[in-house]
Amino acid sequence: MIMVFRGVMVDVKKMLLAFLTVLTLPFGPAVAAEAAPAVVQSSPSAAAVPYHIVRPGETIKKIAAFYHITPAQLRAWNGIIKPNQPAVDGVLNLAKPQAQLAGWRTWAEGVTPGQVNWDPAAKCPVVPAKLRKVWVTYIDFYGASHLGSVVVNQAIAAQTQRVFRVLYRMRFRIQGMSPMSLNAPYLSDMGTVTAGYSCRKVAGTQTLSQHAYGMAIDINPVQNPMIRGTSIDPVNGSTFLARAAYRRGMVHAAGAVRAFTANGFYWGGRWHSLKDYMHFSPTNK
Ligand SMILES: [Zn+2]
Repeated sequence: MIMVFRGVMVDVKKMLLAFLTVLTLPFGPAVAAEAAPAVVQSSPSAAAVPYHIVRPGETIKKIAAFYHITPAQLRAWNGIIKPNQPAVDGVLNLAKPQAQLAGWRTWAEGVTPGQVNWDPAAKCPVVPAKLRKVWVTYIDFYGASHLGSVVVNQAIAAQTQRVFRVLYRMRFRIQGMSPMSLNAPYLSDMGTVTAGYSCRKVAGTQTLSQHAYGMAIDINPVQNPMIRGTSIDPVNGSTFLARAAYRRGMVHAAGAVRAFTANGFYWGGRWHSLKDYMHFSPTNK
């Protein structure tokens, strides 16, 4: 990720922290207040219900017992039909949500050169006619659903749709997808955006990124930063270096990563030269 507009709303961030009562630490005495988004202009958390992020080995029965609710309640509040067990990295409401979750929708459409900032002089390797804007329903950090888009190569449009369908069924949370002005107007840090196509080079090299081919997707960059030596990108991802933690938006090998790998993507979190936890590509580059 290269676009980072840093905000200065520290006091607002503190204020938001006070509002947040989300539950992210399972099976322990502590109830953690989740870190606030980088920049916040309002408090979309007001309508949010407490939630639980599923870890390996957890079942509906165990989770319900821990929170002193019944398995039937937990299933009802999350639209789970017996006997399905929740997926790791999935998110479960711990109270009745205000509204039923919208049905999942998807479609893919062409892009105009303007939509991808096409500049012939930049000699980007894939012409706009070969790119697709893939629209999907996703769930944000506060449990609200939105229609968001990623631009990818037409060759991977269908598998991209399948990935996001799995993530939606898990109720995996995504901080923001385009159009951010509609979907997350309280975020001004564009380093938070889940996105695909971007005609750019791999940071620090002359090699074109797979994003320049529309062959890579970065998901929740702040929560899944790229680590190369001692450098972290985005820098505000530095509080997410403890990868065994389960905090909203983080991907794990036993969880959200599978939504991608089951659909032909490889994960940058498995690389050895560097770790790019946000990055998925069918080329493994
Ligand atoms: Zn990437």
